[in-house]
Amino acid sequence: VIQIRNLHKSYGQLEVLRGVDLTASRGHVVSLIGSSGSGKSTLLRCCNMLEESQAGDILFEGEHVRWRGEGPSRVPADRAQVTRLRTNLSMVFQQFNLWSHMTVLQNVMEAPVHVLKRDPAQVEARARELLDKVGIGDKAEAWPSQLSGGQQQRAAIARALCMEPKALLLDEPTSALDPELQQEVVRVIKDLAAEHRTMLLVTHDMRLAADVGDHVIFLHQGKIEEEGTPAEIFGAPRSERLRRFLSATR
Ligand code: ATP
Ligand code: MG
Repeated sequence: VIQIRNLHKSYGQLEVLRGVDLTASRGHVVSLIGSSGSGKSTLLRCCNMLEESQAGDILFEGEHVRWRGEGPSRVPADRAQVTRLRTNLSMVFQQFNLWSHMTVLQNVMEAPVHVLKRDPAQVEARARELLDKVGIGDKAEAWPSQLSGGQQQRAAIARALCMEPKALLLDEPTSALDPELQQEVVRVIKDLAAEHRTMLLVTHDMRLAADVGDHVIFLHQGKIEEEGTPAEIFGAPRSERLRRFLSATR
């Protein structure tokens, strides 16, 4: 679904990504781990064109992500491609980012109805189904402020799913939550993995990374330091840096 080749990204003098290769195949989950500042969020943001990279290729289902222009006036070459990408690579953020002036149901329905122009009645039916699926069907008419953090994040996941995306990009979906609430969200993510959803998951929760990841990537200072199966990464880390990182997170 997503293929990244030799990606480079800098903010001014700061090189944040220094040649990253990554493939997220259909039905697979890639877990991205690494210290704060290693470039994990930047990598996700490059995938759906929230950020532009300076070199390397990003392919979404074989389609090259394209930019045009130079310097500060550099923009996506094709607006339709941006919409296609953001629809198909739905993002879930650490801070939920629900719209506070809309009910939970309206949040979930907003983009499918107003961006994708889908039939509102059908979208509503699907939205309610998804809210049930993540366990907050009874909260459809509530405002985001009336929900716990775990419920808000599950609403955000339902919203991402309602786009019927080809893949989910999750950026530390449990980090803003208390441990008990994390488990509600972890359960939803595990269900999605069991359904063979394609996901790119950034997390500081090593247990979650190991449980749902088919493949784990350890990013260090903008480069892949080590990657492999969960058993390899967590059971038999080879590099000193990964060993140090893992012992610091336990
Ligand atoms: P965390 O685990 O803390 O979320 P991360 O691995 O997601 O970290 P990124 O957010 O990708 O890290 O940031 C990588 C580096 O890029 C950091 O040094 C950060 O300060 C820098 N950076 C991120 N966004 C910007 C920006 N918009 N402008 C300048 N520098 C940025
Ligand atoms: Mg981040």
